[in-house]
Amino acid sequence: MLAYIGLGSNLDHPKQQIKTAVMALHSAKDVEVVNLSSLYQSPPVDNSDQPDYINAIAQVSTHLTPLELLHVCQAIETDQHRERAQKWGARTIDLDIIIYGVQVVASKQLVIPHPEMMNRAFVLIPLAELEQDLKVPVLGPIQELIEKLGEYQLTRL
Ligand code: ATP
Ligand code: CA
Ligand code: CA
Repeated sequence: MLAYIGLGSNLDHPKQQIKTAVMALHSAKDVEVVNLSSLYQSPPVDNSDQPDYINAIAQVSTHLTPLELLHVCQAIETDQHRERAQKWGARTIDLDIIIYGVQVVASKQLVIPHPEMMNRAFVLIPLAELEQDLKVPVLGPIQELIEKLGEYQLTRL
């Protein structure tokens, strides 16, 4: 199965945090990182007083179930000292499952496609860099989602 994982960091050397997490994903059993987008920089969504974010998307090939893949992502967050101080607060690393094949998941623990993806340039733009004709389950063609985005600030590094 092909899945897309969104990575984000805005603390403690964000670019290195992303690289470390990608290597950890690739090392995880039954997960292979097959492609990685460029890194992108953007200000925090709510313009709160925290550092800019660095984001990227990894395309992975996996035999894990969506929930198993979530647990791998959460273990990597723990390894990289992710602390959950407040919702959408600054963090060393965040891994979100954005898309998992054509599967739609809606449970208490896991919602796929990621419920905020259509509002986030830092998800849509790197996704389109990897797969410009991607059809997102439920939501539709990636290019149409990008056209519907409002104004956004995003720098490709
Ligand atoms: P957002 O989800 O809006 O990007 P966040 O990443 O800061 O916010 P977290 O604190 O990292 O939120 O995660 C909260 C919970 O979201 C996790 O415990 C997890 O169970 C749940 N979750 C639901 N859907 C997903 C998904 N597709 N990928 C990762 N976590 C998810
Ligand atoms: Ca997130
Ligand atoms: Ca998350």
